Amino acid sequence: MTEKSSVEARFSDIEANYAEIRENIAQAAFRAGRRAEDVRFMAVTKTVEPVYINHAVSLGVRLIGENKVQELLSKLEYLDDPTVEKHIIGHLQSNKARKIINAVSMVQSVDSVSIARELSLRAAQNGTVMPVLMEINIGREESKTGFAPEAAAGAAAEIVTLPGVSLRGLMAVPPMDAPEKELRGYFAAVRRMFEDLRSGIPAMDTLSLGMSADYPVAIEEGATLVRVGSALFGSRRY
Ligand SMILES: *Cc1c(COP(=O)(O)O)cnc(C)c1O
Repeated sequence: MTEKSSVEARFSDIEANYAEIRENIAQAAFRAGRRAEDVRFMAVTKTVEPVYINHAVSLGVRLIGENKVQELLSKLEYLDDPTVEKHIIGHLQSNKARKIINAVSMVQSVDSVSIARELSLRAAQNGTVMPVLMEINIGREESKTGFAPEAAAGAAAEIVTLPGVSLRGLMAVPPMDAPEKELRGYFAAVRRMFEDLRSGIPAMDTLSLGMSADYPVAIEEGATLVRVGSALFGSRRY
């Protein structure tokens, strides 16, 4: 295959995948008695070249997520549409906080009070407020960052006092390959934490749950934002 036709083949895969995902989102929302419009779709673009990100955006994707600050920043100049919204969804080192203040509209992966403090400081210096989600390590996995479930309420109470961040909700990645029943239990537990916290923090409006393998289940369990990479772009080539 020539290079051009392989790009075009991938374009049409992305198109078909996006149509299928939208249909799955609509059906999962319907099963849960929810409206599909109440579930935001994020295209996770890690390892994906800008040409394909631009194609997804041309199909209607309005929100992209990247794990790594450097990878996000290096792609920005290649995006056709600078108004597409960007979120950080991976562990953020404090020395990178300053770099993203003007580049992203949310950090979904706040996993310590100290990184929230650093973001608050940098946003305040910039005269802005950074919307954030707290990442919950719902499976208490050593390999994952995030707040332990029992630590979340105390941390939220500290984070809401910071002037440069706005706590908008929770994000979680449950253990990989958990059977569906267990997975639902994890999602439901994060949702209960979300509802509990929201009763005292009315600005909380985002429950970010669900990836390629499980976004329909996450929607049934109350996700307001799903983060989908490989189901849209194909498997990642590192
Ligand atoms: C990579 C990643 C995703 C997307 O994963 P897929 O399984 O490819 O959909 C979602 N959320 C986070 C935090 C990720 O790192």
